[in-house]
Amino acid sequence: MKKVLILGSTGSVGTQALEVIATSPELEVAGLAAHGNPMLLEQARRFEVEQVAVADEEAAGRAAAALPGCQVFGGPGGAVELVETTECDLVLNAIVGAAGLEATLAAVERGIDLALANKESLVVGGELVMELARQGGSRVLPVDSEHSAVFQCLQDAAANRPEKIILTASGGPFHGRSAEELQHVGREEALRHPRWDMGNKITIDSATLMNKGLEIIEAHHLFEIDYEDIEVVVHPQSIVHSLVRFRDGSVLAQLGLPTMKLPIAYALHYPERRPVDVPRLDLASCGDLTFTEPDTEAFPCLRLAREAGERGGAAPVVLNAANEVAVAAFLDGAIGFMDIAAVVEETLSQVEGEPDRPLRTLEEIRAFDEEARRRASRLAGR
Ligand code: NDP
Repeated sequence: MKKVLILGSTGSVGTQALEVIATSPELEVAGLAAHGNPMLLEQARRFEVEQVAVADEEAAGRAAAALPGCQVFGGPGGAVELVETTECDLVLNAIVGAAGLEATLAAVERGIDLALANKESLVVGGELVMELARQGGSRVLPVDSEHSAVFQCLQDAAANRPEKIILTASGGPFHGRSAEELQHVGREEALRHPRWDMGNKITIDSATLMNKGLEIIEAHHLFEIDYEDIEVVVHPQSIVHSLVRFRDGSVLAQLGLPTMKLPIAYALHYPERRPVDVPRLDLASCGDLTFTEPDTEAFPCLRLAREAGERGGAAPVVLNAANEVAVAAFLDGAIGFMDIAAVVEETLSQVEGEPDRPLRTLEEIRAFDEEARRRASRLAGR
């Protein structure tokens, strides 16, 4: 029996992970963490967990009263305490945003395998996370569908390093529109993703293509590959989840209908493949598959993220923090869609004193993260 700790259990990835576990007799839920959503209480009862973490203090109090016999770790450090104390074989980190970094670090410091949906952990702390994982012997198993695709393509690669990684992007709801046309798009339109049903933050990141930019940085760390060897192609049908080209020119791809249950199940069961209850791909009925280059004028976030990754040092931390602030401001109606990229770009140009070496401690990462959030908030008028 593999015991899995689910962080972010009430979110889009977290709930789908619980659905996978509910139909997998070889998997058991070891504990759950969320920010404050009461859905966690139902989940805790259903999966009979004895330990949960709730980041919001008041919600943690309510959870303690509602779940007698269950240990509740409350407050912002609750998820880390849960990871540090729960007996488990695998931590699934599906917390959203840089708030997930410390739980990621706690898992790899304990040498526990990590199924990672929280891409922001690798964007802001890639060097630190991967170094601690190597030292502690943790495997970092990607949950992001593109990275899961690459990881699956690399399973039989032995020592053959990829020559190129090709990440596919759906293009989001605004694929094909110009920068001019995007000036006035609103929140509801941006939240209507044509292929994937996801949390609000990643849905906006998909609309700006920042999501693909964050994934470039994630791929750089996960697969130890240079930025110049990571390509992005827009593939609106979301059937080919990503590809790997080897030095003989051969290209491997992983395909499937767009459902997160597949990459989630792959990471949870790894290295085995188990039956997953999802519709099967029927190539003859899925229509034309198209691939085009992304438009970085209409979607500057993709360029900004690649540049920040290449620059290294604190730039990815600043990029990510500014983006989190800008996306929240857009969702609240405080700024327009194209202002997201403008806030990120301006914050990147304002934060100075960056070391040009990777940030190797949590304190350094936190300092740049906080400074960038302050500046981005001012720029977003908050
Ligand atoms: P959601 O917004 O749907 O869910 C976020 C989860 O994180 C919720 O359970 C939320 O709890 C929890 N959470 C937020 N802050 C904290 C905190 N401080 N401590 C503990 N829990 C917290 O996000 P998604 O599921 O869409 O995305 C999660 C991560 O996975 C993101 O990094 C995203 O980029 C990545 N990802 C998501 C995909 C998807 O299909 N959704 C695909 C690939 C990657 P509460 O409900 O209480 O607020």
